[in-house]
Amino acid sequence: MSLLDDIKELLLPRTCPVCGKLLMESEDVMCAFCAIQLPRYRILNIEDNILLRMIWDKADIKRGTTFLTYNHHSSYHKLIIDIKFHGKSDLAVRLGQWAALEAKRLDFWEGVDALVPVPLTRWRRFWRGYNQAEMLARGMAEVTGLPVVNLLKRTKNRTPQSRLSGEARLKNAEGIYHATIPEEWRGKRLVIVDDVMTTGSTLANCAQTLLEADKDAQLCIFPLSYAG
Ligand SMILES: [Zn+2]
Repeated sequence: MSLLDDIKELLLPRTCPVCGKLLMESEDVMCAFCAIQLPRYRILNIEDNILLRMIWDKADIKRGTTFLTYNHHSSYHKLIIDIKFHGKSDLAVRLGQWAALEAKRLDFWEGVDALVPVPLTRWRRFWRGYNQAEMLARGMAEVTGLPVVNLLKRTKNRTPQSRLSGEARLKNAEGIYHATIPEEWRGKRLVIVDDVMTTGSTLANCAQTLLEADKDAQLCIFPLSYAG
């Protein structure tokens, strides 16, 4: 560590986002104990699983996987809060890397052409300083070598999905995504990346939007966590 890093460490001690304990120099985004205990969500079949079955009636998705179980009673849910609301874009990149490595073991990346993050509205993106789904995708890109392409845009600022449930979510999400797919990205195998999948309505809407723009697109989904 440089002197500047030492001073920074002294003024702003780095803590584990899960348990709050001070991080050691060798630990970068969370403590080793919490990293080992990450609540993995085990996907056994990337072509037929609970995530896909939640979306199949709305969009044809070829593959789907996830990395973590999202449970807002667990202290691990602070990871999602941190990447969404506390400016921890580096944590999002690291989680994206870990998730991508896990998916590699399932051959999830076989034949994939690009990563497409679920977008934020311009306004939200501006205030947050980054799009957490894009940071996750960037972490995945570092492991897979795939490009991150922002093919989706979010146009209307409605009620955040986290405040709604079931039907209301689907209605709220209808028609808010738009896709512009340049020739070079047509007919490609694209992975839609998001932070949390709950009812699947956001991912389903993004998938429908991409398929309307390019019926030959082959879509996969990769939410970092699943609130099942
Ligand atoms: Zn910890």
